Amino acid sequence: MDAIQADLQLQPVATFKLVLVGDGGTGKTTFVKRHLTGEFEKRYIATLGVEVHPLKFQTQKGVVQFNVWDTAGQEKFGGLRDGYYIGGECAIIFFDVTSRVTYKNVPNWHRDLTRVCANVPIVLCGNKVDIKDRKVKPKNITYHRKKNLQYYDISAKSNYNFEKPFLWLVRKLTAEPTLEFVAMPALQPPEVVMDEEMKKQYEEDLRKAEATALPDDDDDNI
Ligand code: GDP
Ligand code: MG
Repeated sequence: MDAIQADLQLQPVATFKLVLVGDGGTGKTTFVKRHLTGEFEKRYIATLGVEVHPLKFQTQKGVVQFNVWDTAGQEKFGGLRDGYYIGGECAIIFFDVTSRVTYKNVPNWHRDLTRVCANVPIVLCGNKVDIKDRKVKPKNITYHRKKNLQYYDISAKSNYNFEKPFLWLVRKLTAEPTLEFVAMPALQPPEVVMDEEMKKQYEEDLRKAEATALPDDDDDNI
């Protein structure tokens, strides 16, 4: 049995609806499609124009499944309908680190999301960190600290930090801070390779940024 066949056999002990939000083009669809069995078992909800990918992860306490909701591109034409958010138990907000406007729009996505999904765990992800010409640097990323979100740099195309948002969310959702993934799901092979030096540099920059005091509270200053 290969890795995909093995993943398909997994039976979840818990399931959570996870909604993906963020500007069009930030990489939401690319990200969710990395997980091979999620892509294989996805369902299309025609009435909402949404794809739902069941992503399974193995923890020491059993298999957890995130039913990840991804739009068919409706976000490019403004906000999303309430039906997309209703019942959401956790979320990932995306921006593209090569596009400042996508970071500037994060508060709007956060507001829309939390209007329907109050008090759910949320991860903020800056995607495409494989691209050399990065515009939104670790020190510029502060929104999550004011709103109690978790932040990760990711690169969907290289699988960099793919599992991190899910691990943080499952720990929050189960109130088990020591939960670990005991096996990695089968992923699409990387399409780009992250430069090791760049990875180290960003991780160091993020640590430094987190240790720095926030500027004075000012809602215009995200
Ligand atoms: P969505 O509109 O948020 O679903 O974004 P898509 O997944 O359609 O991605 C938009 C574009 O960004 C596509 O051309 C992707 O190939 C590209 N893209 C997505 N993720 C990455 C990444 O991690 N690195 C790079 N270099 N390009 C990416
Ligand atoms: Mg998409």
